[in-house]
Amino acid sequence: MRVLVVGAGHNGLVAAIHLAAHGLEVTVLEHAPRPGGAATSVEATLPGFVHDHCAAFVPMTAVSPAMRELELGIAWVNPAMVLAHPFDDGSAIALHRDVAATARSLGEAGAGWAAAMDRLLPVATPLAEAVLSRLPPVRRSARLALALRRDGLEWARRLAGSVEALGLDVFDGDRRATAWLAGSAQHSGLPPTATMSGAFGMLLQLVEHSHGWPFPRGGMQTLTDALVERAQGAEIRCDAPVEAIVVRGGRVSGVRLVNGEDVPGDAVISTVNARVLARVLPAGALPGRLHRRLHIWRSGTAPFKVDYALSGPVPWAAAEPREAAVVHVGGELEELSQAADEARRGVVPERPALVVGQQSLHDRTRAPDGRHSLYVYGHVPARHDLTDEQVAARVEDQLERFAPGFRALVLARATRSPAQTERENPSLVDGDLAGGSYELDQQLVFRPAPELARYRTPLRGLYMAGASTHPGGAVHGMSGRGAVTALLRDRRPAEAVMYGECRRRRSLPRQRSALTP
Ligand SMILES: Cc1cc2nc3c(=O)[nH]c(=O)nc-3n(C[C@H](O)[C@H](O)[C@H](O)COP(=O)(O)OP(=O)(O)OC[C@H]3O[C@@H](n4cnc5c(N)ncnc54)[C@H](O)[C@@H]3O)c2cc1C
Repeated sequence: MRVLVVGAGHNGLVAAIHLAAHGLEVTVLEHAPRPGGAATSVEATLPGFVHDHCAAFVPMTAVSPAMRELELGIAWVNPAMVLAHPFDDGSAIALHRDVAATARSLGEAGAGWAAAMDRLLPVATPLAEAVLSRLPPVRRSARLALALRRDGLEWARRLAGSVEALGLDVFDGDRRATAWLAGSAQHSGLPPTATMSGAFGMLLQLVEHSHGWPFPRGGMQTLTDALVERAQGAEIRCDAPVEAIVVRGGRVSGVRLVNGEDVPGDAVISTVNARVLARVLPAGALPGRLHRRLHIWRSGTAPFKVDYALSGPVPWAAAEPREAAVVHVGGELEELSQAADEARRGVVPERPALVVGQQSLHDRTRAPDGRHSLYVYGHVPARHDLTDEQVAARVEDQLERFAPGFRALVLARATRSPAQTERENPSLVDGDLAGGSYELDQQLVFRPAPELARYRTPLRGLYMAGASTHPGGAVHGMSGRGAVTALLRDRRPAEAVMYGECRRRRSLPRQRSALTP
């Protein structure tokens, strides 16, 4: 049996590893000149400065069973203080691995955090696994309910709401502490007032205490390289964009590349955005309602990325950000909401809320001696009428605001608009980092539709993984693995059970590599 995987992002590579390990013939077809998708690093500014192109901090890799079982042998960097959120008065709140240190940083609001962690930290791993696992996560949810007892319902209510409501509840009305929590929710692209943003903010910070927000020493490329190495036996064809999925006799029979080449296959696992899949599927391949659902899949706001090569560390006014791996720049809760609302209304925020990565503070492989790299993005609309220079100026005004003297350190910078992001990786439709908005109607079984949420499609031989499927974006590989499980079950149910057993015993067979650039 020959399986074609569309897209060599980490989900495509995870799928290829399992398919090849199972003895199937696998070809991964990738649009870009190299594999990795949104998990790569590049020397975007000056020689010797290593910049993570998209994903940078990967707590979900740390908790994901799909990644952990691969035992990739990566050297992780996992700082004791991962995050700081500075304010205009020169103070900051820090998120430490240690709960007590975090509570101290929160001041009066610290008691609320300590109480919340007292309850949630013991169930951090099962909670994260329930969020990541295939739907419906019946056994895991039952175990959680048992562990949390009466508090379970209360936490379900809090997590389902907005991060603003959750923060004001946990921190007894403290708006600065709530801004600190909302800063983490902004990784999802959801505004602090959006339903479900509470779950994103809380889960990310909870996992920080339980696992950290690690990043690979040497850059995200290290992770992709390790996956490619493990995908031995799979053929990975780069510069091979898929133009169409070919359907014959009511089932998938292969794909056609943009150069006109037909690649035959018995099954296809698509890992690209729902809208890209809708485009490459012939009319009538899926029931009309489902095809339309993929076609109208909604993007969230998109990161405008700026990478910097700096002559020294960022001169933050507050002490904590000088040490933290991640800094959330945005100030007060109202400002975070305003930036998110403007971006959603199609306006580039005057004061964008920024995610700032200072990997080189903790990983000296990222920049030449004495120098530093800086990773920055802020959410903007996919389409707007400012130039990249103008957007970058707003980003830099924000950095200067909290780190006076920042501009004087800039040796070089590389900007990337949402449109450029999509040109490089067409699966990041509208430049959206999440593979589709995380609003409630695109979550859980609605990601992207009840019929597809478990990685099968009604078209025989077609499986769907990637960030547009449950559990969404981030580097966790769960949907790549889930699609393979579905395919194996369809092929020979008994074999799938045996294979699951083999994985549980950590004996993924190794195959020979056949990487064709
Ligand atoms: C700026 C930014 C910052 C992020 N930060 C983080 C972070 O810190 N932590 C985190 O966990 N996640 C982060 N993410 C999200 C995360 O990177 C992605 O959700 C994840 O990498 C998606 O993996 P994937 O394999 O599903 O898709 P992708 O990695 O997007 O892979 C899809 C692949 O399909 C290819 N492709 C597209 N169309 C075709 C076609 N027609 N034919 C063949 N190939 C095609 C693309 O070139 C791409 O290689 C970030 C994303 C962005 C954009």
